[in-house]
Amino acid sequence: MVPLERSELLGPTRRIVLARAVDERIRKSRSGSGGAVTALLASGLAGGEFDAVVATIKSRGIEGRAVVITDRDTLLRAAGSRWTLVENLKLLHQALSSYRVRKAAVVCTPCQAHFLKQTATFPLVEGTDFSERIALVVGLFCMGTFSQPSFTAFLRRRFGVSPEEVTDVSLREGALHVEVEGRKAPLRIPVAEAVEFVNLGCLLCEDYTASDADISAGVAAAARGWTVLVARTKRGAEMLEKGEAHGFIETAQAPEDVLVEILQRAEEKMRRAVEYKLRFV
Ligand code: SF4
Repeated sequence: MVPLERSELLGPTRRIVLARAVDERIRKSRSGSGGAVTALLASGLAGGEFDAVVATIKSRGIEGRAVVITDRDTLLRAAGSRWTLVENLKLLHQALSSYRVRKAAVVCTPCQAHFLKQTATFPLVEGTDFSERIALVVGLFCMGTFSQPSFTAFLRRRFGVSPEEVTDVSLREGALHVEVEGRKAPLRIPVAEAVEFVNLGCLLCEDYTASDADISAGVAAAARGWTVLVARTKRGAEMLEKGEAHGFIETAQAPEDVLVEILQRAEEKMRRAVEYKLRFV
């Protein structure tokens, strides 16, 4: 197997840090991640870097809904990652079209960050490029998303679990890991079985860390309670510095075991994509 370079796996990087919210309320509501993304967005809203955030909030169980957030309280209520794709880019477009929103930040998946970068570089239709009014693209680490109705029906049928009880879902080490309230160990569903729920495009997707975002964010098992932040662009690095300078986030150097874990996940995703491309394409 040809070893992959770190730059191939992670994309462009300026700074990689562990970060968490200084505000204890944010930290407590995001115990797994430290809430650095929320704090960073709160910093941008407070500093006037943007006047709206387009993100996904948890609406019911594992379902998510795209929203335009313009105030800190709503931002604090917005949940972390969702596991189904929601139409946040459509909402971003609507928000910027309406001119209610001057500049926006968007929290999205790696594929959505890629789409935003492409449309900024090669606008499809004159007048549809809103890139100058997108102040920040935050990309969330992503191993895959799945089709909601069939997955929730499967969870009920196979495990007697309702979507409201699910607290986290991740696709790693060849299986879907489903964390359920009140259960110590996650449900482990092998990819061969989960493949009917995972969106096919996700199995062909190579980008784990959102290499086209300004800042990428995710969690690592080796650093519970912290968010891993990867600042990639000038404005991403500046936003991170402002968050630190204005007391919204605290940061620490990302230790080697965290970097190794992220690189392993990135490599796992890249190799999975190659395998499925050989099968399907
Ligand atoms: S795995 Fe890739 S295609 Fe699927 S949601 Fe994540 S970034 Fe998008």
